[in-house]
Order: sequence, then structure tokens, then C-alpha cells
Amino acid sequence: MCTIRYPFLDLGKVNGRYADEIKGVCAKVIDGGRYIGGKEVEKFEEKLARYVGSKHAVGVGCGLDALRLILLGYIALGQLKEGDEVIVPSNTYIATVLAVSTSRLKPVLVEPSKTTFNINPYLIEQAITPRTKAIITVHLYGRPSYDDDLADVASRYGLKIIEDNAQAIGASVNGVKTGHLGCAAAFSFYPTKNLGALGDGGAVTTDDDELAAIIRRLRDYGRTENPYENDIQGFNSRLDTMQAAVLDLKMLYIDEENASRRCLASVYDKEIDNHLVTTPDPGPDYHVYHQYVVRVKDRDRFRQFLLDRGIETAVHYPVPPHRQKCYPELHGINLTIADRLAEEVVSLPISPAYISVDDARAIAYVINSFR
Ligand SMILES: *Cc1c(COP(=O)(O)O)cnc(C)c1O
Repeated sequence: MCTIRYPFLDLGKVNGRYADEIKGVCAKVIDGGRYIGGKEVEKFEEKLARYVGSKHAVGVGCGLDALRLILLGYIALGQLKEGDEVIVPSNTYIATVLAVSTSRLKPVLVEPSKTTFNINPYLIEQAITPRTKAIITVHLYGRPSYDDDLADVASRYGLKIIEDNAQAIGASVNGVKTGHLGCAAAFSFYPTKNLGALGDGGAVTTDDDELAAIIRRLRDYGRTENPYENDIQGFNSRLDTMQAAVLDLKMLYIDEENASRRCLASVYDKEIDNHLVTTPDPGPDYHVYHQYVVRVKDRDRFRQFLLDRGIETAVHYPVPPHRQKCYPELHGINLTIADRLAEEVVSLPISPAYISVDDARAIAYVINSFR
């Protein structure tokens, strides 16, 4: 057994840097006596909206619910209806697809580009039918998935662009933050994300007054101003006061952390030099490297090779949504790029809490010795 010198993820260390401050804000919440909603949630929502540049931010229970609340909000407003088709990338975490199918809409999977890992805008048009109403673009691994081609196809067919921004808080395209590129965006504050809570959390950002208002109600049983009056069927997906207080604090450090991730990524870009290992294309935009993902044909052997040398890696994701047992209706679809990526991708350690520039150099050095 080799000792792990470079763990893939150590959340204790990620939050340990802020432990005293976190304990301070949590103590305030405990003493305050309010544990759902309240001024901490409002303050965090305002801070997030200002950060993203959007008119509204609505705190919710998790990232999956954020996506679902956007879709259910549009359904409640009559802008989407049961059976409408929503284009989603074939190469994504399953939550993106679950949000669509569990809202009684139909996910239509479109292949990514092998270099960006993100949905290929040139393949969107052929997937559009008269029932297509929206595109969920996923800024996978922190790399913005939005450009003129995507905006153009959406506007020509009158499709809403919804962002799955679970992995990309702080990323931007031409100075516009992800979360403010489309009609509405979903954020996740799952502990492993770039801005992680100490439990589940999520948010929706949008400039749409009506959508924000309906989501505020849907997240809280669908009730009106009067707590015991419900005129729509909502559910319970609120952001805890404690999580909001922690997130509000950690927002102070997000830009610095993302800059450190970019710095580590540039070390990997520069130092990894092995024809068996393909490094990711950094792209033209401000990428925040939720993951640094290389491609290797002989993945299992590569991962074992690194593990034997104390380097832990991960795979995001080994089974694409269309291969999952829960989607038998998608099994027959030919999605060879998503399949191939699922076989070849490897995520390297990139947490700035405990991976230094020297560590990244040392990891690259080991990778270069893989034969
Ligand atoms: C994490 C994630 C989600 C879901 O977020 P949760 O907070 O775990 O519900 C959705 N989409 C993507 C791309 C994610 O990475």
C-alpha cells in the first residue's frame, strides 16, 4: 500500500482554511434562532445576484432542484408544457437530464465536441423539432459552454437557453459571468463544487421577474403571501440559513480560489508532455477548472500508475446518462463521442486548498513518465 501524497479531494482541508470564520458565522445563526430563510438567505441571494450581474438570485435546496424549479417555473407560467423537448448535452452529470425528465419534459441528447467536452453547437440544429422549446447548456468542468453559434441557433428557433452552472461559478464569456448568459441559470453548492456549502444548497439566477417570483413560491410549497394559502402545487426546496451564512462568507474567497485553480491548470498545461495523455483545451473564455480533465486511452492502467505513486484521480463520469439503467428509452441512441469520453476521461487533483504549484509540477513529472 502506497500512501496518498496527493488526495483527489479533501473537503476537511478545503474548509479548514476558513474554519474559524465558518464557526463564527454558524454561532451567529445558532444564537439568532432562525434556521430556514431569514436575513442570511436574503443577504446571500443579493450578493450572488450582484456577483453574477443578474436581477434575481433565489436560494434553493440543491442544484438539481434549481434546474427543476426553472423548468417547473416555466411550466407554471405557461411557457413550457408537458412533453416539450429540451436539448441537453449527452456528456454531462445525470442531474441535468433528470431535471428534464422528472419535470415531465423530454430530454434530447446532443453530442459534445471532443476538445471542449461541451455540447457542440453545430449539432444542435439537427436535433430541433417543432416541440423543442429550450436548451440546457452545461458549463462542464468549469469551462463556459456559450458562444455566438449557440446564441444564434437558440434565437433562430426561439429556444430558451438555460444554464447548468453547477460547476462554473465565477467563469465568464467576454466579461459576462456564467449564470447571466441565458434566460435562467442553476447553481449547486454541493460541498465539492467551487463554492461549496457544508451540506446541500443551490440557487437560480435570472433577470426574469415573473420566473423569479414563481420559483420563490414553488420552493416553498407553492404558497402565497399568506402562509396557509396555496394556489399552485409546489414542493420544499429552501436554502438553510446556516448554509447561506457559510456561502456568504465563502463568496469572499471564490475569485481567489478560481484564480488558483487556473494557475494550477496552466502548470498542468505547460508541464504535461506525454503523447499518451491529452490535456484539455483551455478555450477562449474564463475557465474556472472545477475539474482538470485529461484523456488517456489506457485509463485504468494510467490511474493505477498514478495511484502507485501516491496520486489520486477521479473519473467524471464513467457512465453517461444514456447508458444508465434508469433511462432504457435512451439506450438505443448512438452517442459515440459521449461513450468515448466516458472511457477516456481522468480528473487530476486541482484543489487549491492543498495542491500547490510545486505539487502540480511533481504530478506532471510523474504523468510524463507513464509509458
Ligand atoms: C453537481 C451538479 C448538479 C446537481 O447539483 P446538486 O446540488 O448535487 O443537486 C447538476 N449539474 C451538474 C453539471 C453538476 O455538476
